[in-house]
Amino acid sequence: MYSDRIKQLSYKHGFLACGIAKAENLPLASRQLKDWLDMGYHGEMAYLENHFDKRTDLRNLVEGAKSILCLAFNYFPEPRNKTDFKIARYAYGDDYHIVIKEKLFALMADIQNLIPSFTGRAFVDSAPVMERQWAERAGIGWIGKNSLILRKGVGSYFFLAEIICTIELDADKPETDHCGTCTACIDACPTQAIVQSQVIDSRLCISYQTIEKKEPSTLSIEESKSWIYGCDICQEVCPWNRFAEANNEPRFSPRDIVDWSAEEWRIASKDLSLIKKQITRSAMERAGIEKIASQGFTQLNATKP
Ligand code: SF4
Ligand code: SF4
Repeated sequence: MYSDRIKQLSYKHGFLACGIAKAENLPLASRQLKDWLDMGYHGEMAYLENHFDKRTDLRNLVEGAKSILCLAFNYFPEPRNKTDFKIARYAYGDDYHIVIKEKLFALMADIQNLIPSFTGRAFVDSAPVMERQWAERAGIGWIGKNSLILRKGVGSYFFLAEIICTIELDADKPETDHCGTCTACIDACPTQAIVQSQVIDSRLCISYQTIEKKEPSTLSIEESKSWIYGCDICQEVCPWNRFAEANNEPRFSPRDIVDWSAEEWRIASKDLSLIKKQITRSAMERAGIEKIASQGFTQLNATKP
């Protein structure tokens, strides 16, 4: 009974989907994570080796966990004019960690009004939670061959978030695979980073190279395909994303840097404070100003007439 009420409350806060899974062990995901780490596909992201027991069983992360609410929030922007300085769509506006966390706290307050005994913890890409595996289990979508969660009628341009709670709720059915025989993402990836279905070698991925890697990207300009922060190619080619519709969250409105021309990058190359102002409190802060500036200026040099 509460499950449906909670889902209704989540829509009130702007989430596009809410699914529920029982908090339990994830044996298959545990094996897949171990294999992925053993292959070294995580590159310099050593933090992914930590908290293995919490990652694979949420009850080690939140004491007394019984259920996990999996939530999806649309970030697909209005279409932009083409620029040679491409930024992944999820990073266009304010930092999603901040925006979504606020919405999760507001949702939890509403749930507590409904169920006074409700206790839980909220997560947005911020703790050892295998969010795609949980989202699939909670019926939000399926893990596509590009390793992202895809949802029928929506696509993949949405954030995932979780509330791990200590009450029993009715669980949803896991979603099944709808990639079928399609291989568009694997074929389109310019660096062959999708080494097999659902398996990414991060070290080859433009996203990792332009965000997570501390040292400068080792990809050539040709390989980077003008991406200076992240990469959306394996989403752009996905047929399910033809259903994507623009979000209406004002804080995800694109910042000016998203549309900067070569001339604007040229001006910024003489005044880094212009870049700093643009990326402050956006997801792009993760890479840091030096990395973003260096990637922007490398692209600027490549676009010189
Ligand atoms: S984000 Fe880009 S580089 Fe990474 S797997 Fe997808 S298409 Fe390949
Ligand atoms: S492009 Fe095709 S194979 Fe890749 S995630 Fe989308 S539907 Fe699946």
